[in-house]
Amino acid sequence: MRAISPLVAMVATMFLTAPAQAAEPPAGVHKMKLGDFTIVALQDALNSRPLAGLIANPGELAGTPGAAAAPDPSPLPVAAFLVDTGKQTVLIDTGLGDPAGKTLARLRAAGYAPERIGAVLLTHLHGDHIGGLLEGGKAAFPQAQVYVNRRETAYWLAADNAGAQKAKAALAPYQAAGRVTLFDGAAAILPGIASSPAYGHTPGHTGYMIESAGRRLLMWADIVHVQALQFVNPNVSVNFDIDKAEARETRKAFLADAAARGYLVAGTHIAFPGIGHVRAAGAGYRWEPLAE
Ligand SMILES: [Zn+2]
Repeated sequence: MRAISPLVAMVATMFLTAPAQAAEPPAGVHKMKLGDFTIVALQDALNSRPLAGLIANPGELAGTPGAAAAPDPSPLPVAAFLVDTGKQTVLIDTGLGDPAGKTLARLRAAGYAPERIGAVLLTHLHGDHIGGLLEGGKAAFPQAQVYVNRRETAYWLAADNAGAQKAKAALAPYQAAGRVTLFDGAAAILPGIASSPAYGHTPGHTGYMIESAGRRLLMWADIVHVQALQFVNPNVSVNFDIDKAEARETRKAFLADAAARGYLVAGTHIAFPGIGHVRAAGAGYRWEPLAE
């Protein structure tokens, strides 16, 4: 009979004791590989809204398969997404911010200190996407360059409603530090990340296509708010869309492209982790959550 070497015993102990904890992801955090990149979905909030206050064209529901069974109030979760390229740590949107949004807490739980974030890509300047830019009234991401579509800042900085005031306040410390970069339309933003204009929901609403080692994921933000209705019938509009006709055409184009080309999609307001595929189904589409 051979004695077990100290090394084997040590390895066996590590194997038996360490992984159980390490394998369990923190609540509200979902990590996946995309080629050489790591994508981390961060659950910000679990909200819901009565359908009556959400749907802009209720007449459209009569021709929508399954509309009668759609949950009411409708889930309206919020998520943000981190892209770790190995060279750069990039956050796409920031959630609601204090006190309702959990993006900063999720980031820290996932092992990413906000000071490590080198870039924040904003899809648009609605409060559920920019609230987390501030923490305690200061820039939550002091090392980050903030990227946003020029049409989006032009619209909100010229307006004077509550949403515009919130947008101005959220951007202010980054502008003061020279850390806001405006871009136009479809552009190469960072290595492996390109902007994809998705106008309509807001004037400069923008998705981001992430590509690594031949795998692609489009973070499309607010193309869909009502998961139970807007895949099956993309004509269903929500009151949040500033230009409803343009948002509808954008939604149709994005759904058709995602279904035809088969890349992964990540959405802000889709059930967590909000990552999956769009599949053609009947006259519309269905959402196929990522199986993991
Ligand atoms: Zn939103």
